[in-house]
Order: sequence, then structure tokens, then C-alpha cells
Amino acid sequence: MNAPFRLDPGVLDVAIIGAGFSGLCMAIKLKQAGRTNFRVFEKASDIGGTWFLNRYPGCACDVPSHLYSFSFDQNPSWSRAYSPAEEIWRYQKASAEKHGILPFIRCNAEVARAQYDEAAQLWRLTLKNGESFAARALVAGAGILHVPFTPQIAGAESFAGKTLHTAEWDDSYDLRAKRVAVIGTGASAIQLVPAIAGKVAHLDLYQRTPGWVIPRLDHAFEEQAKARFQRWPWLQRLFRGVIYWRAEMLAFGFTRSRKMMAGFQKVAQAELEKAVPDPALRAKLTPDFPIGCKRVLISNDFYPAVQRDNVDLVTDAIARITPAGIVTADGTERACDAIIYATGFRVTDWLSHVDIRGRGGRKLIDDWKDGAAAYYGVAVNGYPNMFLLLGPNTGLGHNSVVFMIESQVRFAMGCLGWLWSGAGAVEVKKAVEEAFNAALHEKMKRTVWMSGCKSWYLNPNGTNSTLWPDFTVSYWWQTRRARKRDFELTPARAPAVQVS
Ligand code: NAP
Repeated sequence: MNAPFRLDPGVLDVAIIGAGFSGLCMAIKLKQAGRTNFRVFEKASDIGGTWFLNRYPGCACDVPSHLYSFSFDQNPSWSRAYSPAEEIWRYQKASAEKHGILPFIRCNAEVARAQYDEAAQLWRLTLKNGESFAARALVAGAGILHVPFTPQIAGAESFAGKTLHTAEWDDSYDLRAKRVAVIGTGASAIQLVPAIAGKVAHLDLYQRTPGWVIPRLDHAFEEQAKARFQRWPWLQRLFRGVIYWRAEMLAFGFTRSRKMMAGFQKVAQAELEKAVPDPALRAKLTPDFPIGCKRVLISNDFYPAVQRDNVDLVTDAIARITPAGIVTADGTERACDAIIYATGFRVTDWLSHVDIRGRGGRKLIDDWKDGAAAYYGVAVNGYPNMFLLLGPNTGLGHNSVVFMIESQVRFAMGCLGWLWSGAGAVEVKKAVEEAFNAALHEKMKRTVWMSGCKSWYLNPNGTNSTLWPDFTVSYWWQTRRARKRDFELTPARAPAVQVS
């Protein structure tokens, strides 16, 4: 992306980290509010965040597109109910262009450090290339799924073939007629495997833990349907509303009702029985944890792909990697030309690649060593004028995170309004943040995510800093406006300091 980058002399009103859905939403809302003294710093070479970075074959969103999009920018032309990654990325680009925010975004600009300067009431940012900027407020919209996780497997560096990761896909590598090993059976793998199984010579799928898979009710939208959405935007809003409330109902099961989840599990079990007639293979694919504890997988073509003649499901643990392939614990070596890690992301330390330092030089990474925590996932005591998007405990297992992002941006805009009307520093009160998190973790106890499985939702100490343990509509309601009484507002000390 080569949009011209203009830096106004002096201090930025807002510096935004990341140009995925979060950063784009923030930038659009600032621009709509008439604020133009902001910049978005994006480490990748283009905007889009996860939808630019994840380009593996079959990549799509498992939330319906008419919901997984901005409420203020509905797209009547989605090709499918579950659109592919590239189409989502094109939607993001079109939205950014339409709202005129491209000139405010700088790509290939990784923020290495952000430090709060208490005397000047400014955030001082240093990019990886050494450039520095100052801003009155920092908005971290880096997202939690962008630092690829590759397990340390003995001998991995000796592998003579090609190594890929779903989140760092190499388009130039031709998988056709290759022997391929895929490690992992999470949300990425179940999209990748069906997309490549028909092209490769052979595929070994290394599964450590099977997941619950439910059917994806995918379908293409006919031109007529698109034309109707185009002509009657209210019809699309109605359609979006139906999808939203259908998804929202699931929150009841995830966060309150084991009985509802048990019913849901029966549906998934029946699907598995219908799709996989071989009892031995079915046993290997049957999870031993309640549905929902790990992310529910949504696919129509995963079970058929696993049963192809050229696909083997390997459930023995991986012992080591050799120059020729992978050796499992039983001593079997399976040769391959390529190893694809579909092993996910480093989630629990998602902001650790940016050295964020708040009041008195305190480090966010230290404050979060036992698990990330914030007030509504947005504000953190000790870090004035910093607002997180999709921060701690605001991820979802059942609905669209774009909905959460829009709520957070509205909340952050409320806080920024105080800065623009005389405050120099806005900081959530410690007691308020602590009480909020105590109540949140109390609610978390009754959720299916805490029912005993091992998942990326959990910190090493077993706490959950990832998910919102309630309905999204309650999040929307509670964050519809920021309340001054929850924050410490310090008057502005001095006129804006110039960047040296
Ligand atoms: P993931 O859900 O974390 O799955 C990683 C997989 O790798 C798991 O099956 C895991 O097994 C396996 N694994 C990790 N280390 C291993 C090792 N040393 N040996 C063998 N297997 C190992 O990652 P992901 O599939 O990339 O998905 C991550 C998240 O991204 C999803 O949960 C979802 O939120 C998001 N995502 C969303 C979509 C979408 O459509 N919206 C699509 C893709 C991803 P264990 O289960 O045993 O740990």
C-alpha cells in the first residue's frame, strides 16, 4: 500500500497501532468526528490485519460476512454467506478508501516502543526503524491473532523440505503433487486441509486434540439477492439482525447453560456419525471435552477431506523432525516435501512485541505477567490516554468481533472527548478496573471455556483473559458511553509539546 504519508509538524492527537478492523474503525470514526490529526502505524506492507496476513488456501471467516463487517458500511455484494479472506480484505480496503483514511495510514511501520511521558502528558512512540512520534493518545488495535506460534519440535531446523505457517503463507510455493504434513487441527487447519487435499500427492494430518465440528451453512448469494440488498438497505440490516440474534442466542449456552451446550454437542456428534462411517476413524475424531470449551470448528468439507485416500490422520504424538520428514512417538517416520504449521498464534502475550510503558516507566508486559486485564478490554490503570481495541476479555466464541470493536471505538471516543475538552490525562481508576475484573472472572467461572479442557483461551495459570463471558449486547449496553466517575481526569498541564 503506497498511500502518501503526511506528518503534521508537532504532536498527533491520536496514534493508532494496527490497520486491521480495529485500527480502521478507529480511524474512520475519528475522521467522521472531524479529527484529522491522527496516524495509523501498521507493521505489515498493507492494511487489513489478519485478513491480509492469513492467505492460506481455503482461508475464510467462520462468522457470516453480513455480520462480520462494519454496521456503518454494509456491503450488499458479499459473494457468499461465509466469504473468503481475500474478499474480506478487499472490503476493508474499499471501506478505508471510501472514508478517506488511506492517507493517514503508514504501512511497513512497526511500533517497537510506546512510552507515556507523564510530565508532557504524551505518548512517545519509537518505530522499529528508529523514527519517533508523539501523540496525546495511543490506541492499540493490534489484535490478538497476529504473532504466529510455531512449536519447538526437536530437529525442526534440520528439515530439508519447505516449511510454511498458515499465518505466513508463501504463495510462491506450489503444493501440487507434493507430500505434505499439516500439524494442527484448529480453525485454520480445517479450512486449509480440504482446500489442498485434492491437489497434493499425499497429506499427513497430525492431530493432537480433535475438535468439535459443526456444519457451515454456506451458500453463494445470487445476483438477485445482492440487487435487493443494494436497493433496500433496510432489508440487509434486517438480515444482519437475524444473523446477529441467532449467534447471540448461543452466548446463553457458552456462558450459562451446560444443558444447552449438551444439546448442541448431540448435533455435532450426530454430524460426525453421519459423516464418518468408519468407527476407528470416528473414535480418533471424537473430542473428549464438552463442545465450546475449545473453539467450535465450522466446516462441511473437513470430514470428507480426512477420509480421502491420499489423506492420513496421524494421532501419535510428534517425537521429532528429521531432514526427510516427521517421526512420531511409535518410531514411524513419514517422509514429506513440506511441513505446514497450522498451530495458531501466540495469544496470551499478544502485545508483548510492542514495549508499552505507562506511568513511572511501568511495563505492560510485567503488569500482565499473570494474565492481561483491562476495564472493558479498553482502559488500563497506570496507562493514561491509552485505549485498547479487542483488548483482554473481549474476544468471542459465538459472534462477530467487529461488533465488539465498534462498541470499543465508541467508548474510546467518549474518553478522547474529555481530552479534547480540557483534560490532559484520562486514566481508569484502579479500584474500578479491579472491581470490574473481579466480577468478570466470577462470571467466567460458569462458562464452558472453564470446563477443564486445554485451550488457547487460557493463560498458563488457567485464567481466561481472552473471552467476554456474556452476551455481546450486554457489552454494547455497558460500554455505550464512558462514565467520568470511573476515570481520573487530570487537567492539561501545558500546551502541546513539539516533537523533537
Ligand atoms: P489453534 O486453534 O490454536 O489451533 C492450533 C492447532 O495446532 C491445534 O490443533 C493444536 O493442538 C495444534 N498444535 C499446537 N502445537 C502443537 C504441537 N506441538 N504438536 C501438535 N499439534 C500442535 O490455531 P488456528 O487454527 O490458527 O486458529 C486460531 C484462532 O484463529 C481460532 O481459534 C480463531 O479464533 C481464529 N481463526 C478464525 C478463523 C475464522 O474463520 N474466523 C479461521 C482461522 C482461525 P491442541 O488443540 O492439542 O493444542
